[in-house]
Amino acid sequence: MQKLVPLLLDWFATNARDLPWRRTRDPYAIWVSEIMLQQTQVKTVIPFWNRWMKELPTIEAAAKAPSAKIHKLWEGLGYYTRVRNLQKAARVIVTKHGGKFPENFDDVLALPGIGHYTAGAICSIAFNQPTPILDGNVIRVLTRIFGIAKNPKEKETNQLLWQIAEDLVSRAKNTKEAKAEFTSQPSQPSRDITSCSHLNQSLMELGALVCSPRNPQCPVCPVKNLCVAFKENRVEELPNLGKREAATARRFVAFVIERNGKFLVRQRPAGVVNAHLWEFPNAEINGAKLDVPQIFKSEFGTELEKISPLCTVKHSITRYRIKLEAFSVPLEKFPTKMAGRWVAARDFDSLAFSSAHKKLASAAAKSILSGR
Ligand code: SF4
Repeated sequence: MQKLVPLLLDWFATNARDLPWRRTRDPYAIWVSEIMLQQTQVKTVIPFWNRWMKELPTIEAAAKAPSAKIHKLWEGLGYYTRVRNLQKAARVIVTKHGGKFPENFDDVLALPGIGHYTAGAICSIAFNQPTPILDGNVIRVLTRIFGIAKNPKEKETNQLLWQIAEDLVSRAKNTKEAKAEFTSQPSQPSRDITSCSHLNQSLMELGALVCSPRNPQCPVCPVKNLCVAFKENRVEELPNLGKREAATARRFVAFVIERNGKFLVRQRPAGVVNAHLWEFPNAEINGAKLDVPQIFKSEFGTELEKISPLCTVKHSITRYRIKLEAFSVPLEKFPTKMAGRWVAARDFDSLAFSSAHKKLASAAAKSILSGR
């Protein structure tokens, strides 16, 4: 531990990526980045984070923003519960903390959508507190460095990993260099502002850049001389995550229904996956034969007039492998059971669609342009 901390801090000081949220100590900006980074890669997050901070630069702005706006800003990032919780938490900060992001770890942890990892990340990065972090990246790094062979999801092993993460960040706080004044105007990380912030970020960064799940770059790793997995040639075995849950295939059919140049779209209700997002009418057909006219009739209570295949979208969400087959349906008359909003293709951009349905929206817009 004693040797590990300075190695990590030195490596981070010269190898940290220059990311937009690393140029600030604003806890709100750091919080937004941490929520966006859950389940999402850095390069994907950067434009979303820049746009969000430009449109909603303060906690108050996030608290007051209309639901349609926050969903639109999050459109394409997925896992939309994150953005709704972010707004709920912003409202709690406004009403309970006078609009100032709380510095106390328990107050941060009590905010909607913030778990131990995120609270630890915000308190360490924004306030330089010795609060540990443990996510998939950090678990990989620590199980390898310390040669921990047990499954990190098991309670005891998980507690041990949290303990190691806490020891490391506490030692960072206690290093001589870390006692230097914590600047509020950081540029690139450097040793004279070493801190809990940099120790935690060094673990995240090592996991992202060097100690990757496959083909880790051990020969250039700053901690290879201390790493048990490297010394014992067990890198590929760790972390021991047990058997992966098998992927589940799901199949959907979607109807891109057009009448007089407008398309029928619907907003998903609260409490379901992708709540509040817009989509084209669709139905899950797992196991069922793809009888499109029959599905259309049972959905809308009317016979199809005309139909043609539009496109197929394949995507993965958690363990689901989803196939969405979309059909163009031009209509002359309105069926009775057809609820939703009729929208021109040029207005699609004003609505937040889930990623798959955004692809259908562009296919629909192209089909109108090509006069199909
Ligand atoms: Fe990871 Fe290899 Fe570095 Fe060990 S030596 S921490 S396995 S990259």
